[in-house]
Amino acid sequence: MSGEMYDVAIIGGGPAGSVAAALLARAGRRVVVFERDKFPRFHIGESLLPFSMQAFTRLGLHEKFARAGFMEKFGGEMYGACGGDGVKFYFQDGFRSQTDRSYQVTRADFDKVLLDHAAESGAEVREETGVDKIDFSDDAVSLTISRRDELPLVQGRAEARPSENEKEPTNQIHARYVIDASGRNSILGAKFKLKKNYEHLQKVSVFAHYDGMSRAEGRDGTLTRMVRAIDRWFWVIPLTATRTSVGVVLDGDVLKKSGMSPEDFLQQAIEEQPILMETMRDAERVTPVRTAADFSYRSTRLTGDRWLLAGDAAGFIDPVFSSGVFLAVLGGEQAADVLHEVLDHPGKRRKRFARYERKINQAMDVYLRFVDAWYSKEFIEVFLHPQDMFQIPPAVNAVLGGNVGDSFAIKWRMWIFYLLVRLQRYIPLCPRRTLIPQKESAGAVARELEAVS
Ligand SMILES: Cc1cc2nc3c(=O)[nH]c(=O)nc-3n(C[C@H](O)[C@H](O)[C@H](O)COP(=O)(O)OP(=O)(O)OC[C@H]3O[C@@H](n4cnc5c(N)ncnc54)[C@H](O)[C@@H]3O)c2cc1C
Repeated sequence: MSGEMYDVAIIGGGPAGSVAAALLARAGRRVVVFERDKFPRFHIGESLLPFSMQAFTRLGLHEKFARAGFMEKFGGEMYGACGGDGVKFYFQDGFRSQTDRSYQVTRADFDKVLLDHAAESGAEVREETGVDKIDFSDDAVSLTISRRDELPLVQGRAEARPSENEKEPTNQIHARYVIDASGRNSILGAKFKLKKNYEHLQKVSVFAHYDGMSRAEGRDGTLTRMVRAIDRWFWVIPLTATRTSVGVVLDGDVLKKSGMSPEDFLQQAIEEQPILMETMRDAERVTPVRTAADFSYRSTRLTGDRWLLAGDAAGFIDPVFSSGVFLAVLGGEQAADVLHEVLDHPGKRRKRFARYERKINQAMDVYLRFVDAWYSKEFIEVFLHPQDMFQIPPAVNAVLGGNVGDSFAIKWRMWIFYLLVRLQRYIPLCPRRTLIPQKESAGAVARELEAVS
């Protein structure tokens, strides 16, 4: 076999790939990361969960995060679009909480800090280098790579692959194992046809960054705000002292049928919500409006003889509970630990890979169940009427923070929570909510806007 041999090759320099690369390199492994883009680059996914903090501590990242100026986040708040009081939750009140905070981040900067950290930890990082093809043999993996500046040679399409007869502007590298952390691209998922969509969670999101929104002082000004309307929900994520991310998530069909441009759609969707407008009167949009088809899916297998999937490449479960980066960091960390052990003890591969698969699937299961409940109207009715019974709110809070472990104490409380959500459909245990903005307040906002313009 010609070419260089690495212990581990990693496809993708997002959070999953960077975390895995940094840990493996720190453990003394020869590791290479291929990232097709040049960082910093835009990415969505800006609100992080406290259960990633331990991994960041292990990697020695907090100082770098502080230097980058990432805002600390202490919890979240939820509102029904029809008005009334919302509910705030602080991570410190989570069931057996171990940390009271996480971060809100501009992903372009966050991902660059992580990828640079992987390089500083000893990983070889090759940006603007895409992985086009992966081949497996009994004892190694071969990756066909190409520099991004070479790709447009192929019929002007950055993603296009050379045909069999064309001379490939590529070269090959070899590794013992590969981690596919290529995000929603999921190269191995596509190669082995592993991706299974959740048909009931085919959503689209429309979002942008705004300056000049008003927000609370102190820790309440760091919370992620979610507003649940009847056929959509909104996020409001403070990113810096002045900048805020605002987005709406809904069924793709609704956006399509509106016939509106994403810009007009987002503007109108926001203006229809008095709860949003309260803080957006002086807001100015400072980025283009972007859309993302955030279809939820999962890979039917997460490991093979010489490969593991991590992060979005393994699965993506709706953005509502901000679980994406948490799952990416978890997957990157676990994949690195598993491979570090298996490289020394190949005989343990089957068992350790199976354990990895179980752990990641279990974490995704927790969020899938939570997300399924969220899209019922009763979820928000129960959530907005917390009862201090059996410590259920702290258990829900813990899961919102990323506690997806085996704790039976949390599990049975969550079962009761789901039971309450289900019962609420038939018996009004909590006040019913229309989730439709009251005409009066929506009209008042519209009149005020008219007067201002
Ligand atoms: C609308 C929306 C809102 C979201 N909000 C949140 C949130 O608030 N909080 C949160 O935690 N998560 C959120 N997420 C999810 C979050 O964005 C992802 O889960 C997270 O980025 C996954 O990280 P990753 O490392 O697996 O993949 P990515 O971050 O996508 O990184 C994958 C990398 O692989 C590279 N790549 C792809 N193909 C190749 C190739 N062939 N060769 C080389 N490189 C390649 C890509 O360029 C990319 O940099 C949101 C997602 C959506 C859609």
